[in-house]
Amino acid sequence: MKIAVYGKGGIGKSTTSCNISVALSRRGNKVLQIGCDPKHDSTFTLTGFLIPTIIDTLQIKHYHYEDIWYEDVIHKGYGGVDCVEAGGPPAGAGCGGYVVGETVKLLKELNAFDQYDVILFDVLGDVVCGGFSAPLNYANYCIIIVDNGFDALFAANRITASIREKARTHLLRLAGLVGNRTYKRDLINKYVEACPMPIIEVLPLIEHIRVSRVRGKTLFEMVGSEPCLHYVCEYYLSIADQLLSQPEGIVPREMPDREIFRVLSDV
Ligand code: ADP
Ligand code: MG
Repeated sequence: MKIAVYGKGGIGKSTTSCNISVALSRRGNKVLQIGCDPKHDSTFTLTGFLIPTIIDTLQIKHYHYEDIWYEDVIHKGYGGVDCVEAGGPPAGAGCGGYVVGETVKLLKELNAFDQYDVILFDVLGDVVCGGFSAPLNYANYCIIIVDNGFDALFAANRITASIREKARTHLLRLAGLVGNRTYKRDLINKYVEACPMPIIEVLPLIEHIRVSRVRGKTLFEMVGSEPCLHYVCEYYLSIADQLLSQPEGIVPREMPDREIFRVLSDV
């Protein structure tokens, strides 16, 4: 199963991805998380440090793929999750899509791509240009992280358009939205009413999740010393279980931009 996690910048994609990855691993799956954001901090809470990126490694090895070893690019993270950071495009030489393409090419050369039960792509998604929609070429499920605000839902709507487009040529489904860092969900509900799609889970703002980022730990690691966090892990396990049940998902139909302004501003 290949899952692409999208959403507006800062919405909680990497935090959610890392915790879902551990949850999927806890359910007995071999998991690879690929950070596709040039920010290259996707796997930070899994490894506790900023691992070297694929692009850094390719540059150091002068793009000699045959000189690159598995251990150069795949790093062990918490809970048995393997981690890769694609990195940013080299100056003046391509875009995010090129980087994702090179990452997948290298992982295939290393025979790594087929060794996993689940591969999770954590992708920046404010603007889904051709480049940043590249992971959708490899994914069969997409989830979009939103909060209860206009900007995140507007970004989700644009991502939705990319999913619809990619789903024309291969088997890609939107598994649904994950609400994050919000107690309220009225705007999310309004959007889903107008543009039907499943809501997988809605997580509130939880101070320990914010702290987990600073500590470089997932909630599953933190729960060892703070058992009260068990309920937070349950959210991520629930998302993992829903994905593992291979939901039917949908091919979404985005709303026209003017329509989303009308629907979501009418509160
Ligand atoms: P993105 O990958 O979308 O840019 P991050 O995962 O880096 O976003 O999250 C941005 C910040 O929000 C981080 O400091 C993270 O700890 C915090 N965060 C994410 N989800 C929650 C939550 N449910 N409650 C509190 N803080 C959160
Ligand atoms: Mg991120």
